Amino acid sequence: MLMRSSYDVTIIGAGLAGLQCARLLARQGLHVLLVDRKNTLDQKIHTTGIFVRRTLVDFDLPDDCLGPPIKHVTLYSPALRPLELASHHEEFRIGRMGQLYQRYLQQCLHAGVHWLPQTSYLSHSASNGKLTLRLHSGFPRKSISPRSIRTRYLIGADGARSRVARDLKLELNSEWIVGVESVLHGAVLDGPPQLLCFLDPKLAPGYIAWIAHDGEETHLGVGGYPSLFDPIPALQDFRSRVAGIIDLRKVKQIETRAGFIPVGGVLRNIANSTGLLIGDAAGAVSPLTAGGLDPCMRLSSFAARIVTEYLSSGDVEVLQAYSGELFRSRFASRLWARRIASTVRQPQLIELGCAVLRLPMFNSLAHHVFFGRGSFPDVMDWREPAQSAPLPDCTG
Ligand SMILES: Cc1cc2nc3c(=O)[nH]c(=O)nc-3n(C[C@H](O)[C@H](O)[C@H](O)COP(=O)(O)OP(=O)(O)OC[C@H]3O[C@@H](n4cnc5c(N)ncnc54)[C@H](O)[C@@H]3O)c2cc1C
Repeated sequence: MLMRSSYDVTIIGAGLAGLQCARLLARQGLHVLLVDRKNTLDQKIHTTGIFVRRTLVDFDLPDDCLGPPIKHVTLYSPALRPLELASHHEEFRIGRMGQLYQRYLQQCLHAGVHWLPQTSYLSHSASNGKLTLRLHSGFPRKSISPRSIRTRYLIGADGARSRVARDLKLELNSEWIVGVESVLHGAVLDGPPQLLCFLDPKLAPGYIAWIAHDGEETHLGVGGYPSLFDPIPALQDFRSRVAGIIDLRKVKQIETRAGFIPVGGVLRNIANSTGLLIGDAAGAVSPLTAGGLDPCMRLSSFAARIVTEYLSSGDVEVLQAYSGELFRSRFASRLWARRIASTVRQPQLIELGCAVLRLPMFNSLAHHVFFGRGSFPDVMDWREPAQSAPLPDCTG
């Protein structure tokens, strides 16, 4: 497809947030350019890919890009005492993310999105209400000089450390955990597909270590505050610690995944008349669970609606509905839980907390954390119905 010299919307970043937003905007008839520095979307993936029930119900994710359903969770204390939780529902499915990104990209292309892989966003400038973007294409060693693209609106879907956010003078993420994991084939774990979560302040300070096993694929990872641990040796330690729980003797390592996860809650200032932020760039991650895939789908769908309305009306007031300040109020309890998680570092205290959770009367709290349906507010319902434009198709 030939490049245009000018676009309605340019989206930087083709992770889940950018892909979701691009296909919805193009289906509204807008000229959309999608840019990513990656060559293909199945490399350098930043997620385990665990989708929660709420996302699986509300969005029509392609079934063949998802692993078998998971209904069971086991929470381990630092001394490896288990608390087993089971749901009647199919709570989680691990996305085959490379495949899912490629599928969404095909849908983007089908809807008319122009795709520019292997291209980095460098900067932008504005004059006469139009933006000029400087983009750099090519492999580092065989680089091509930067090219300029004109666009009416810019969307930053460029992840947790967003350059677009900085250039648009919007808010930047400032609190992170880091996660690193191995994707394995051939692990043997007795019982049904399961999510195993390990609370251990040495292996995963401020977060958890995890094994997500759906019978076909196993993800084994650690996450925590980068100032408090070194993730690579922690992952190796974790692997040897769980030898009595999961048989890894015949595994084949398929991939290593890693990334920063913003956990300070959705940012307040995420839109202006030049551009807006979605996904990790907007801090749209649950501060407690560090789940960002559901927020990616919801906030990107809402952003597509707002941008469509803004570009057709030219009314800056429309953008006021896209305010992190409004969504943030729903995060208060999770932000408090995050603060507690970041300060409790004594294994004995965590052991005691786990013992309390094992008591029948507190069991429902653990159920609520793992099987609750409130990871991110339903931003699509945010405004008064009278103000709302028809909804873009946010499923499929
Ligand atoms: C190890 C790990 C495991 C996780 N597991 C889960 C999970 O199981 N479930 C869950 O709900 N959440 C999980 N999360 C969080 C969730 O994955 C993220 O919130 C979500 O993937 C963010 O998607 P995104 O599209 O905003 O960003 P990304 O997926 O990071 O995409 C950003 C894209 O922007 C591109 N880019 C960046 N800068 C530029 C530039 N200058 N020019 C061009 N392109 C650029 C990058 O190449 C990338 O493709 C996990 C996070 C990590 C790190």
